Amino acid sequence: MEGFASNSRKELIEKQKSTAYDVVIIGGGITGAGIALDAAARGLKTALVEKRDFASGTSSKSTKLIHGGLRYLKQFEIALVREVGRERAIVHRLAPHLVRSERMLLPLIKGGTFGKYSTSLGLMVYDVLAGVERVDQRKMYSKEETLEKEPLLPEDILEGGAIYAEYRTDDARLTMEIIKTARAFGADCINYVKATEFIYKEDKITGLKCEEVLDGTAYEINTNWVVSAAGPWVDELRTQNKSRHGKRLQLTKGVHLVVDHHRFPLRQAIYFDVPDGRMIFAIPRGKTTYIGTTDTLFDEDKNHVLTTRDDAHYLLDAVNHTFKDRKLTLDDVKSSWAGLRPLIYEEGKSASELSRKDEIFESLTGLISIAGGKLTGYRKMAEKVVNLVSQKVNQANPKRKIKSCKTDKLVLSGGPFDGHKGVKAYEKEVKEILNQYDLDISYAHYLVSNYGRQTEYIFELMKGIKEKDGDLKLALAELDYCLNHEFIFKGLDFLERRTGKLYFDIDSFRKVKDQVLETMKEYFGWSPERFKQEQEEVNQALQEAYNFK
Ligand code: FAD
Repeated sequence: MEGFASNSRKELIEKQKSTAYDVVIIGGGITGAGIALDAAARGLKTALVEKRDFASGTSSKSTKLIHGGLRYLKQFEIALVREVGRERAIVHRLAPHLVRSERMLLPLIKGGTFGKYSTSLGLMVYDVLAGVERVDQRKMYSKEETLEKEPLLPEDILEGGAIYAEYRTDDARLTMEIIKTARAFGADCINYVKATEFIYKEDKITGLKCEEVLDGTAYEINTNWVVSAAGPWVDELRTQNKSRHGKRLQLTKGVHLVVDHHRFPLRQAIYFDVPDGRMIFAIPRGKTTYIGTTDTLFDEDKNHVLTTRDDAHYLLDAVNHTFKDRKLTLDDVKSSWAGLRPLIYEEGKSASELSRKDEIFESLTGLISIAGGKLTGYRKMAEKVVNLVSQKVNQANPKRKIKSCKTDKLVLSGGPFDGHKGVKAYEKEVKEILNQYDLDISYAHYLVSNYGRQTEYIFELMKGIKEKDGDLKLALAELDYCLNHEFIFKGLDFLERRTGKLYFDIDSFRKVKDQVLETMKEYFGWSPERFKQEQEEVNQALQEAYNFK
């Protein structure tokens, strides 16, 4: 991808300083990324600033599912189920390597949330509304069939099961590929740049004061419109803009735990009851199974959200309650993550009852903020926001021709693939190359899900790396790729968000971290102090992933 090498940072900042933008987006999570792509593809001059790394907020901390909106059916939000279902199919089409079909098992348990007939009917309605393809449509199973699918389920209280369609993704990778695609359309997206102040002229926002977080320098960006897609930080910016009136955010914390797959060897993803009436997911992924999520009100430091022992016990108890012979303890937890849902406050509602709908707030000075929503709806949210911005640009200049939204047809970087079959065929080719390098073929699924066809560049880069250990050689080739194409500046950008090693392969994280930091030190010319700081950050993240207070 042209122009997204980490050493092109200075140039990008110079460009941001000297350009008059139509729109600048604050926040490089999935929402901001989607808006940047839509705006740039319509021909608007677009920039995006993200104060930490892309996807470092909520957009790397989700359950990593592209939902079909089943929970909305329970609340009779029919139009929403339809919209979310269609969206899901579109997002899968745009990146089939990164958004993959995942059959979710709903066990029907004596006295549980779901009865056999209501579940069958509900899922049938869901299939129709969400436009689920025939092969993915719901299936109902007897107790024996369900046990065959998932032998770990409790035989004594199991009454049957149902399978319905979900899609899984990697939220941070999805955000990154959207950012890269936006970049290819000319959006000037940058990480580690914080919007610190709005600039006003005659009570209208005309720009942003920014801080380059890595070196502490300040600069300004000129723009006609500012969109805040700052997720949990949306209200902070509205307060700065003196426009935090009416509706406000309510943050809730959600935690996921990761255990070795052999300690919780599920054959497939499962959505099951928790004693307090909620439901949680357990999803096998590579060498691990991850479990989540909690949902608790949160009003602490948004910049440092941690898993506590209480959070961990809640999830472990939930698993042990249904899967009695697992007996998972804190010692089984290999990793975890904790994130904040930026939801809209509603009087008298508990964390789980708050709506996940998105809302747009417009201030008198021209700040457009978007909050709420889900990963799944990022494209539609972006369309709404960019329609609004386009309308405003047109009001100011009626002669300006702005294209309509076309993101439903823009294949994300990493593609194209001829759907699921195309992905499978490519995975086969990747396995053959892995064999040539004497590498474990299980890397094929990881590489193709993470990078799609960009895996080819990584193999190319491997040829130039003189490292004997195959796993390390591959990791260093990935690092080389990310330095040249994915705008990384800190060890964790690579070890946590680009590769997911911190969550799903913590042993590899430990194995490669020192060499990754050494390579980055050389690439960027880090001072000894900066190198030490990086080492500390990486080691702290490792501790916080499983050592809870
Ligand atoms: P964020 O990802 O938080 O992005 C906002 C960004 O703004 C941050 O990166 C932040 O650093 C940046 N920022 C803030 N202030 C500034 C500033 N002044 N200058 C520059 N940058 C700034 N959705 C699904 O569809 N499927 C799921 O399975 C799912 N599971 C979830 C599970 C959990 C536990 C949680 C918490 C959420 C889940 N969601 C799920 C919801 C989904 O993850 C969020 O809706 C989505 O990630 C929000 O993205 P965002 O871009 O709005 O916010």
